[in-house]
Amino acid sequence: MDPFDPAKIAVPNTHFIGGRAVGGARETLDVHRPSDGKLYAALPLADANLVDHAVEDAWRAFKESDWATRAPRDRARVLHRWADLIEADVATLAPLEALGSTRPIHNAANWDVPFCAEGIRFFAEFADKCGGEVVPTQRDQLGMTVTEPYGVIGAIAPWNFPLVMASWKIAPALAAGNAVVLKPSEMTPFSIVRLAELAIAAGIPPGIFNIVQGDGRVGDALCRDPRIAKVTFTGSTRTGAAIMAACAESGTKAVTLELGGKSPQVVFADVADVDKVARRVAQAISTNAGQVCVAGSRLIVQRAIADQLVERIAAAFAELVAGPTWEATTTLSPIISAREMKRIDGIVRKTVEQGGQIVTGGGATAEDSGGAYYQPTILTGVDMNMDAVRDEIFGPVLTVQTFEDEAEAMQLAAHPSYGLAAGVHTADINRALRLARGLEAGTVWVNRYGRSWDFALPTGGYKRSGIGKDLGRAAYEANLRTKTVLIDFADDAA
Ligand code: NAD
Repeated sequence: MDPFDPAKIAVPNTHFIGGRAVGGARETLDVHRPSDGKLYAALPLADANLVDHAVEDAWRAFKESDWATRAPRDRARVLHRWADLIEADVATLAPLEALGSTRPIHNAANWDVPFCAEGIRFFAEFADKCGGEVVPTQRDQLGMTVTEPYGVIGAIAPWNFPLVMASWKIAPALAAGNAVVLKPSEMTPFSIVRLAELAIAAGIPPGIFNIVQGDGRVGDALCRDPRIAKVTFTGSTRTGAAIMAACAESGTKAVTLELGGKSPQVVFADVADVDKVARRVAQAISTNAGQVCVAGSRLIVQRAIADQLVERIAAAFAELVAGPTWEATTTLSPIISAREMKRIDGIVRKTVEQGGQIVTGGGATAEDSGGAYYQPTILTGVDMNMDAVRDEIFGPVLTVQTFEDEAEAMQLAAHPSYGLAAGVHTADINRALRLARGLEAGTVWVNRYGRSWDFALPTGGYKRSGIGKDLGRAAYEANLRTKTVLIDFADDAA
């Protein structure tokens, strides 16, 4: 897609409630473009009344519209129409997504927008294919389970892939017949409003999909609202814990939590093509400038090829071009904010103080742009006691640890608290399978790194990386409650 002029993009800086944009707020938040640091919009912040109004509208739409009760195939048809409209709207949606986020325009156009549309189609198809079952009971009884939507689901999304992350929450919830109140990240709040407009155009009843804008306080209010039956969240492990606590303090609610990670990429010396693996490893930590939950941030490499591999990863890093998201040439995204970049740099500095060594990178780049760009960085001489190995950095920083044999690789790959994803690169199938079984992670990729377009594969974390799954059948089922029905039909039934 062509580059665009950021000054010419119209920004829908509103909430979206009851099928229409809702503006006006006593309090607003300045929103800056990560690419050049410029202020580009004021975000209205929802107050308690507005959150109440949105949840009430959602509840009423759930009860009064036929969204939950219509033939499931009809619900699927509307969701398919929505996906078609999203895809056809790429010329508006992709620049809007790129403008305020870290997603370069070519990625937004070729991945974020179509991936979001295809995910909606994937979940739409479950509507009339996945439900309860008849279970074996005693002879004069019919026992079955029926599935039903929860009602209103509260969804809270992060900023790193604004459209895609939000759509993974919204699509299965809507396909299952629920209403949704979504709170996007206050740092990337606008593209999703366009998606809501298209939902109405596709025929989703007003009030079934709502957006309330604001920071963590608005997310907290959603978690505590008694009319919200379930909360689905993607974001940091710390916020995930706060959300669980808020849900527990205000009653009990189901939660799905997609949280942080510190994922290893384990490379054995038997790989056929070191160059290819170097490019794969580099991409796994530099895509979106490492602001990816499953970023492969810890390289665990067999000693015999360590120097060679690290050198080639550094060469791949050197080819990346930092630049604004609206330029077609950009291959290294900005960091979401100057504050986040300072935090990333702080972790690198601290790790150097702790004894780590910088092989390449280790500081800001493209500083005259006004944006926050961080050099892809490699740190060696590190161990699990150092900040850069232990903590999620959420930036383009790769730590390198070396091993002699498989047992040591397994031991280094284990993380004390995170278990989101892991990569294994080897030519030995038996070894690959042993690691796939042995690694404590919600996803293990072998001879690749990163998600595919196979939406049927669920994604989610072990340990403190989360609870429940996005994508896959599991994500659809998590948006349904199960009711048991038992019918006696013996002639002499009491
Ligand atoms: P964050 O936790 O700071 O914020 C996420 C969302 O939660 C935002 O909308 C924020 O406003 C809201 N929030 C903040 N405090 C809240 C509270 N007390 N109650 C309710 N809501 C609150 O995360 P982020 O910085 O936006 O995103 C980056 C994090 O997300 C990283 O840790 C990353 O690993 C994680 N992530 C995980 C996945 C996954 O699939 N596991 C995917 C993407 C991002």
